[in-house]
Amino acid sequence: MLDWTADYLQEGERYPVLSRVEPGWIRSSLPAAAPERGESMGAILRDFERVLVPGLTHWNQPGFLAYFASSGSGPGVLAEFLTAALNQQAMLWRTSPAATELEEVVLSWLRQLLGLPDAFEGVIYDGGSASNFHALAAAIAHAVPDAGTRGLIGRSDVPPLRVYASEQAHSSIDKAVMLLGMGRQSLVKVPVDDQFRMRPAALASAIAADRRAGCRPVAVVATVGTTSTSSIDPVNAIAPICEGEGVWLHVDAAYGGAAAIVPDYASIFDGVGRADSVSVNPHKWLFTPLDLSAFYCRRFGAFRHAFALTPAYLQTDQPPDVRNLMDTGISLGRRFRALKLWMVMRYFGAAGLRARISNHLELAKRFAAWVDHDPDFERLAPVPLSVVCFRAVPRARELDAGALDQLNSRLLARVNASGEVLLSHTRLNGHYTLRMAIGHIRTEEAHVRRAWQIIRAALSGLCQ
Ligand code: PLP
Repeated sequence: MLDWTADYLQEGERYPVLSRVEPGWIRSSLPAAAPERGESMGAILRDFERVLVPGLTHWNQPGFLAYFASSGSGPGVLAEFLTAALNQQAMLWRTSPAATELEEVVLSWLRQLLGLPDAFEGVIYDGGSASNFHALAAAIAHAVPDAGTRGLIGRSDVPPLRVYASEQAHSSIDKAVMLLGMGRQSLVKVPVDDQFRMRPAALASAIAADRRAGCRPVAVVATVGTTSTSSIDPVNAIAPICEGEGVWLHVDAAYGGAAAIVPDYASIFDGVGRADSVSVNPHKWLFTPLDLSAFYCRRFGAFRHAFALTPAYLQTDQPPDVRNLMDTGISLGRRFRALKLWMVMRYFGAAGLRARISNHLELAKRFAAWVDHDPDFERLAPVPLSVVCFRAVPRARELDAGALDQLNSRLLARVNASGEVLLSHTRLNGHYTLRMAIGHIRTEEAHVRRAWQIIRAALSGLCQ
């Protein structure tokens, strides 16, 4: 299996990036019930190759330019192997002192690289959605300290609560307010400017209007690197509004945060040190395999207040200052996620991480310039980080808005059918938009150049 893995990482490009199986093919190729007798690993591995590999979309390939990439880098893969072998369950400090304390150490290393103040303490979650959920749960517990005992429903002393995020914020914020029992109507979508960034003045007026209507603003979510365009909300202007209003500020930097470790891009974190909480996903752009989101909070006391609950069977004699990871979120059991981030950071070093991210930022600029210079294409958003949003507008064809959308949707399907690259799409100002996101550890200029060739050839094919 190690040989197979090594070959896969070396030669993965022989597989189409987007799986070509039909829905149901995998299911129908496998027995409907578990085998009565155990089978050999050889037989299992043969079926793995025959049935499962064709059903993989190869996120771990340099041609993966869709959504936000995730890199299973060598040190990350090996760390996951050890993690499974050790099978640590770090609910209490004593059930895994190493997993508990390494998490603190490695998150402190990352915090320093991100330029965040010492006051931020970190916790690892499985993903950015979990980080956002925990941030909002903590914000509610901070605003309504007895919410944990008395709840929020049917209370005359708790007005309707409100959360604010830009129209471009990630859908996990909508999900969080749904799951926290506030309903999606409690999430106010703040308008953005022509660069898809939250308008601070619109935020201030939305908060003022809600206060007049008897609602209680509890949290603002600013995004550094939005999902569609990688736009960066002006946290420097948003933070003082939150401070003035006594509202929790969470910064969702799931993808974009990684760029803050590059000196020329450190300014994307201007004002983030004033937030109450921040999340950055090393499983997106810090070359750590899924799943690992780093969550930081400046009010760790309030944070533990929101989540700590110890049943009798978990009460143990421990020094009072040790951390029990079960007090920092929904999960009781915690796997040893810190190990992979530690190995990735040690193996590449801060300089190696910076160099790779800088290269992606540079490649995105180069791709944007190619789009800008081609009269058959147009760019639909600025490129503050490594995402380029664009569409085809062929000179030879007079197309209305609907036809242009259709053409671009067909163009994307053709490009992705090449098997060499995978791009995704979004909608900006009503337009169907193609989206290239550069973030895989092995993506080089040759891959981006090849993607551009494929895109242009596909457009010529469609316009014949
Ligand atoms: N926040 C932002 C800005 C994202 O782009 C995403 C996913 O792409 C998330 C949060 C959710 O992250 P995860 O998929 O790790 O839950």
